[in-house]
Amino acid sequence: MVDLLAVCAHPDDFEISVGGIFAKAKAEGFKIGVIIFTKGESGGYAEQSTREREAVKGAALIGLDYFEMLDFPDAGVMFGEEAIEALVPHLRACSPKYIFTFLEDDYHPDHVAVSKITKAAAFIAGLKKHSSDDTDWHYDGILYFGGDHKRNKRWPDIYVDITDYIEIKREACDAHESQNVTEFAMALSKGYGRVAGVEYAEGLYLGESITIKSIKGLMR
Ligand SMILES: [Zn+2]
Repeated sequence: MVDLLAVCAHPDDFEISVGGIFAKAKAEGFKIGVIIFTKGESGGYAEQSTREREAVKGAALIGLDYFEMLDFPDAGVMFGEEAIEALVPHLRACSPKYIFTFLEDDYHPDHVAVSKITKAAAFIAGLKKHSSDDTDWHYDGILYFGGDHKRNKRWPDIYVDITDYIEIKREACDAHESQNVTEFAMALSKGYGRVAGVEYAEGLYLGESITIKSIKGLMR
């Protein structure tokens, strides 16, 4: 059982996009998990085994309570029944309250597919009769991440201050040695931080409007 679950396409997506948020969530006592659809064999020049090892190291640094790498082909993740059905049992097994995944509007076709797969699987996993275990599971919401402003032309709806967790994020990004992503990830967090008025931040997007029960919900 986890509170927050990220569904990603490639081994380094998680640390770059929400590594700081998840490290912060862990420190605040929440349970966290990640599911990665591919083993990243098409990214850079690294062997699949290297990328797998790097992902395990990154996950350990963030302190994940649930971690699973699926075996879909890198640069070949397709939206469809096979992928949805591969994700549903994991969603039911770790029953997250909040699911994090890519914005659909993204440069990488695997990210686009994973976004669609996650939305469909979250819906289907909540259908009691679809499962064999006959238990109810409902998530509270899906939040999106994405770093490609050129494509999505949007700035995040929510910024999370990750300043106190930036070193954990840096180390977890460093774990993906073969991909050399740390500089990019730090610049992204710094840029979001500038907009958010803090040193480092990560950005999230809402998929739907939110409802507040009390005006206090509007207050800082
Ligand atoms: Zn990716």
